[in-house]
Amino acid sequence: MNIDMLIGANFETGTETEEQVLNPRTGELIKGVPEASTDQLDRAVAAAERAFKTWSRTTPGQRSSYLLRIANAIEADAAGFAALEALNCGKPINAVLNDEIPAIVDCWRFFAGAVRNMTATVAGEYLPGHTSMIRRDAIGIVGSIAPWNYPLMMMAWKLAPAIAGGNTVVFKPSEQTPLTALKLAKIFADILPEGVVNVILGRGATVGNALINHPKINMISITGDVSTGKKVLEAAAKSVKRTHLELGGKAPVIVYDDADLDAVVNGLKAFGFYNAGQDCTAACRIYAGPKIHDRLVADLSSAVSSIKYNLANDADNDIGPLISRRQRDRVASFVERASELPHIQITTGGHMAGDKGFYYEPTIVAGALQTDEIVRREVFGPVVSITRFSEPEDAIAWANDSDYGLASSVWTKDITKAMQTAAALQYGCTWINTHFMLVNEMPHGGLKQSGYGKDMSVYALEDYTAVRHVMINHG
Ligand code: NAD
Repeated sequence: MNIDMLIGANFETGTETEEQVLNPRTGELIKGVPEASTDQLDRAVAAAERAFKTWSRTTPGQRSSYLLRIANAIEADAAGFAALEALNCGKPINAVLNDEIPAIVDCWRFFAGAVRNMTATVAGEYLPGHTSMIRRDAIGIVGSIAPWNYPLMMMAWKLAPAIAGGNTVVFKPSEQTPLTALKLAKIFADILPEGVVNVILGRGATVGNALINHPKINMISITGDVSTGKKVLEAAAKSVKRTHLELGGKAPVIVYDDADLDAVVNGLKAFGFYNAGQDCTAACRIYAGPKIHDRLVADLSSAVSSIKYNLANDADNDIGPLISRRQRDRVASFVERASELPHIQITTGGHMAGDKGFYYEPTIVAGALQTDEIVRREVFGPVVSITRFSEPEDAIAWANDSDYGLASSVWTKDITKAMQTAAALQYGCTWINTHFMLVNEMPHGGLKQSGYGKDMSVYALEDYTAVRHVMINHG
C-alpha cells in the first residue's frame, strides 16, 4: 500500500507526525501515514510553480487528452480503487464500484470535453477603432483540500476543472482518507508532466493551515466544514487569494399532502441515508404536510428499519459505518439530546450499533420542531428529522430559515406548486420529486454558509479560470 506523497516527479514519505488511518468497520489500524514537513510542502509548491510555466501554455486539446487518459486509467483499475475506498471509508463496495467510480470517470471525461468548448462574449469593436476580446486563462497554483466523505470523487471534482483550466495543483486529501489519493498519485506521475499535480499529506491544523497560508498559492479550493471555510477566508484575505468554498449542508425536504407517498418513502430511505448520511446534500430535514405526516412517519420508519448494514457479506450492505469514533459519538450525542425533549419520538434507531467499528443505527427523529438543534445543525450521519407543517408558507419559511443553502427538494404531484416552491427556496439546488441526483453537466454548490464554489459543469471551469480582456487599438 502506497503511503508516499507525490512531490514533482518524486514519491516521498512524509517526515512528520504519523496519522493512524483506521478501518471504520473494525476500528483497526490500516496504516500509519506520516504527514509532510514544511520543506516538503514548499517543494511541492515549487514543483507546481515550475510546471505552471509550461502547463498553462498547453492547448485545451492537449490538456483534454491528459484528462481522458486519467479517466481511462481509473476505469481500468476500477476494482482496485473501489476496494481501497471501501476499506478506508467503510463504504459498501457496490456503492463505490457502481455509483461512485463511474461518476468519477465521467467527471474527468466531462472536463476533457468542456475545456474545448468554453464560451464568452464575442470579440468585436465595442469602442470605435478598438477590438476587444475575452480570454479565459489559468489562475496559477491551486491549493486544494478535500474531506473524507467521498475522497476520490472530491479529488475529481477539484482537480479535473483545475488542471483542465491550465492551473497546477498542490492537493491535500483528508488525513483520515488519504489512500485512494495516493493510489491516484501514481497515475498522475505516469501520465501528467512533472509538477502539474502534487499530493501532500497531513492534518488540517498543520499541513492544511500551511498550504492555505502559503504565499505562492494563488487560489484555495476546499470542501469541508463551515468553520474550516472561514479559516480559508481569513488566510485568503492576507494576500487576496481566490477561494472556492464547498461547505456543509442541511437539506430541507418539503413533502406536500398530495405527494406520492411510496415514492417519498423510497426516495428518503435512499437519499437520507446514502453513505450513512455523511453527505452535505443528504435529505435529512423533512417538513411533512398535515395530511401525509402520520403515514410518512410510520412508513418511513418501517422502511428505514430495513436498511442493511454491518453484514458479513458486504455486497448485502446498503450503508457502512461512520468514518470515525469521533463522528459516531457526535451523531449519537445529537440524537441523545433530541430524545430528551418531550415532543420528540425516536421511531426507529437511536443507538450505536455493532460490537466493533463505528456503526450507528439508521434513525428517524419524529415530532421535531423548527427550533430544535436536530433541525438546525448538520448531523452528518444516518439521522433524519421529521417536522409537521400546516401551511405551505411555513414549510418554505422553515426550509429557508437555515445558515446553510446547498440542496433541497420538494415532493408533490402539482407542478405549479412544485415550481413555485422551487423558486422560493434559497438553495444551490432544488430537486422535484427526487433528491441527491447529480450529473457532471450541472453545477453543485451552495448559497449562504454552504459556500459559493461550483463543482462539476462549465461553472466549475469558470471558477478555476480568470476572465481577461485584451483590447487592440487599430491605430
Ligand atoms: P473538515 O473541514 O474538518 O476537513 C476538510 C478538509 O479540510 C480536511 O482535508 C482537513 O484536513 C482540512 N482542514 C481542516 N482544518 C483546516 C485548516 N485549519 N486549514 C486548512 N485545512 C484544514 O471537514 P470534514 O470533517 O473532513 O468533512 C465533513 C464536512 O465537509 C461536513 O461539514 C460536510 O458538510 C462538508 N462537505 C461539504 C461538501 C459540499 O460539497 N458542500 C461535500 C462534502 C463534505
